[in-house]
Amino acid sequence: MIFSCVAMSEQLVIASGNAHKVEEFGDLLAGLGFSVVSAKAFGGMPDVVEDGETFEANAEIKARALRQQVPDEVWVLADDSGLEVDYLDGAPGIYSARYAGADADDAANRVKLLQALDGVEVSERSARFRCVLCVLKPDGERLFFDGSCDGCIASSEQGDMGFGYDSIFIPAGHERTFGQLGDAVKRVLSHRAKAVSAFRGFFA
Ligand code: IMP
Repeated sequence: MIFSCVAMSEQLVIASGNAHKVEEFGDLLAGLGFSVVSAKAFGGMPDVVEDGETFEANAEIKARALRQQVPDEVWVLADDSGLEVDYLDGAPGIYSARYAGADADDAANRVKLLQALDGVEVSERSARFRCVLCVLKPDGERLFFDGSCDGCIASSEQGDMGFGYDSIFIPAGHERTFGQLGDAVKRVLSHRAKAVSAFRGFFA
């Protein structure tokens, strides 16, 4: 596919303080013509209260907070993501990072989720990762892009690659978790990759 790229050297700043995420977006956005930079280049990601009720709302909260401290000609991209489990009516969803409590870490969140699904049949363990991007253009336009990755929740932790729920999530078409499959597979299948692919479509 041929993309009409942005003007040379337009900057796109990622609304995150997470270096791993910024690097991942840098890879996924390669070839679009942007110079992808971290919020660090503009004083760091401001503290925000993610009190939206949807991934869209929380992505926009982050994007607008950063917009205020970067020059007008810079593009801003923020994401919000999480895991939706059908048996739990979509939980943990927007609360994925703090499923087991405000100070919970990834390990505690995984334990809580496995306990919530204890004894639940494989056929009822369907889930998906979702990612919503909010992009604020230099001209003020606001864009949203959505990506999801279907799969199911394993019966126990398997693999130690990745982060968050990776070691208990088996993507559709595979028999191993993201924690076993690793970054190379994830960068093709992931909800973030699909959302960025939708963003790329904007330039097609
Ligand atoms: P964030 O909005 O990207 O910060 O993600 C919120 C939470 O969703 C994270 O703390 C993780 O628990 C979970 N999550 C999001 N993306 C992934 C992923 O790719 N793998 C595993 N967990 C994820």
